[in-house]
Amino acid sequence: MLIEKIKTLASEIHEDVISKRRHLHANPELSFHEYETSKFVKEQLTALGISFTEIANTGVLGIIKGGLPSDKVIALRADMDALPIFETNDVVYKSKNEGVMHACGHDVHTSSLLGTAAILSKLKNEFGGTIKLMFQPAEEVLPGGASIMIKDGALENPKPQAVLGQHVMPLIETGKVGIRPGKYMASSDELYITIKGKGGHGAQPQENIDPVLIMAHTLTALQQIVSRNADPRIPSVLSFGKVIADGATNVIPNEVVIHGTFRTLDEEWRKSAHIKMKKMAESIAEGMGGSCEFKIVNGYPFLVNEEKLTARVKQNLVDYLGAENVIDLDIWMAAEDFAYYSQVSDACFYRLGTGNKERGITSSVHTPTFDIDENALKISTGLMAYSAIKELGF
Ligand SMILES: [Zn+2]
Ligand SMILES: [Zn+2]
Repeated sequence: MLIEKIKTLASEIHEDVISKRRHLHANPELSFHEYETSKFVKEQLTALGISFTEIANTGVLGIIKGGLPSDKVIALRADMDALPIFETNDVVYKSKNEGVMHACGHDVHTSSLLGTAAILSKLKNEFGGTIKLMFQPAEEVLPGGASIMIKDGALENPKPQAVLGQHVMPLIETGKVGIRPGKYMASSDELYITIKGKGGHGAQPQENIDPVLIMAHTLTALQQIVSRNADPRIPSVLSFGKVIADGATNVIPNEVVIHGTFRTLDEEWRKSAHIKMKKMAESIAEGMGGSCEFKIVNGYPFLVNEEKLTARVKQNLVDYLGAENVIDLDIWMAAEDFAYYSQVSDACFYRLGTGNKERGITSSVHTPTFDIDENALKISTGLMAYSAIKELGF
């Protein structure tokens, strides 16, 4: 049976995948600078006899062709970049690149896809069609490596009928996975607002245009976008995490800077919210005698797991792990550049449990103490290999 064969192969390569993960973890590289990581991936693919092309600067696109007749194509994605974080874990594979850390598990995704590639290579005669292995750069910073992979043709010639991706999740115990059909993750836009007034002595309000007060009104008013304008059925989040009014007890500053984030799950509403927020902030500033520059940097779109594909993938997860180990996920308002693939192709992005409460492996991603239970690497490789083969119709 296919599942048993894959599980055996996943066990056989488990130690090797762990060592690859540890190598990547110890040698993290920042977004768009994944040179050594890319070299490592290419060496591993070469060792497996898998042909590849370079793409999106540091990206790698491997191709595995099955031995049976089929025109079907499926793409599997792993991201490769690390974060600007000082690792504080005391482990033998601690980051050797000080100030850079694989704190989002992209070392896990890359080593897992290499493991999946090894399994698929050994099972070539069990399936037909083409499997594209997409090792992409720069998930963590805009414009997102996924958008460049697409621009550089990763999803063309041949065009995959589906893209699959997995991401670590420390909230889920190792041995389990999570999945959600339909809209799953949010679009995320960065807001940069500068409110301009006229600074002066705090004792002479009649001579000043107070940007601090304009800021206070603006911050409060903008929340109406979520509470009064957003369709309650569309999740929306507006958060401001940075406000700089660099005056003093008796000094009114000339300007105030506000930075925030707007997240939602609907492209039309996203566009309309941008216009409404800008208009509201500009009008308030103008009405109070000042002015407002409202800059929006568009981030990733929302991520949607195509319903039918996701139902099939979920069944694969259940077949492979048992229904008790497959968790239904809620919408999550974080963003992920896999969303770009989901906007142009059928796509499914599921979560790999990497936590282990008993062993104290609970730190969330993007923290200096993030780590995984490496037993998850036995599941990640086989699960994706099995889903890929099933999706090809074998
Ligand atoms: Zn991340
Ligand atoms: Zn990530």
